[in-house]
Amino acid sequence: QDKKMAKVFCIANQKGGVGKTTTAVNLAAGLAMARQRVLLVDLDPQGNATMGCGIDKRSVKHTVYQVLVGMVGVAEATVRAEGDFDVLAANRELAGAEVEMVGFENREVKLREAINEVDDQYDFILIDCPPALSLLTLNALCCANGVVIPMQCEYYALEGLSDLVNTIKQVCKNLNPHLTIIGLLRVMYDPRMTLAQQVSAQLEKHFGDKVFKTIIPRNVRLAEAPSYGVPGVLFDKSSKGARAYLDFANEMVERLGLPVVA
Ligand code: ADP
Ligand code: MG
Repeated sequence: QDKKMAKVFCIANQKGGVGKTTTAVNLAAGLAMARQRVLLVDLDPQGNATMGCGIDKRSVKHTVYQVLVGMVGVAEATVRAEGDFDVLAANRELAGAEVEMVGFENREVKLREAINEVDDQYDFILIDCPPALSLLTLNALCCANGVVIPMQCEYYALEGLSDLVNTIKQVCKNLNPHLTIIGLLRVMYDPRMTLAQQVSAQLEKHFGDKVFKTIIPRNVRLAEAPSYGVPGVLFDKSSKGARAYLDFANEMVERLGLPVVA
């Protein structure tokens, strides 16, 4: 009998500061609020997702680094975050993993091997990727069923997108045939900017259904939340940013045909 496996999504974009971590943290918390069992994996040595969930990256006992090099299992390494989801933390140690793993056999599937052991215990496993198409990101793409791509609607956004899409195609062809693009998420959106409207329309035209209907506005409450160690959706539930991320979590659940819990 098949075990029920989690949907594994990575939040990827090789650019920094495009809203990956904000999306990963708020989607994790939003899905948890929709009664989904969620594991958030921080795969960025900066540890921003870890800190944003209220976990101190400097003092956390176990991290994803230890999991990747085989020192500890995922179940043992996760920490419970406020908001009722699990976090596999990251800190600077992870930067060394990339170098260490060069000597490993099957180094691109280390995360997949680790996650396989717990994927029947979650509905969603979300992976916050670092801002590079590196071995870490490759590990994320090799264990995911889907990629969520947050992007700002600015001119250069489209340029980077084709590199990412090509990488995803390559991984799909050579390493992980289950990988698909779940969708593009427009973030930090400012509707007063004509350029943002134009790029947004262009995205819809080129990618159609692959563009999420929900748009995340630029909202200062989302930027303030991490300094309190709380996901934006919990920090100020009535803010525009929080409501948008909750809508996004529900859109995701609906898109996958799961029952929506208000
Ligand atoms: P990445 O993980 O891609 O580097 P982040 O999620 O860390 O990007 O976002 C970069 C910066 O922008 C952070 O300071 C974050 O708080 C801020 N930010 C992200 N999304 C929004 C938003 N919708 N409105 C306002 N600020 C945002
Ligand atoms: Mg980040």
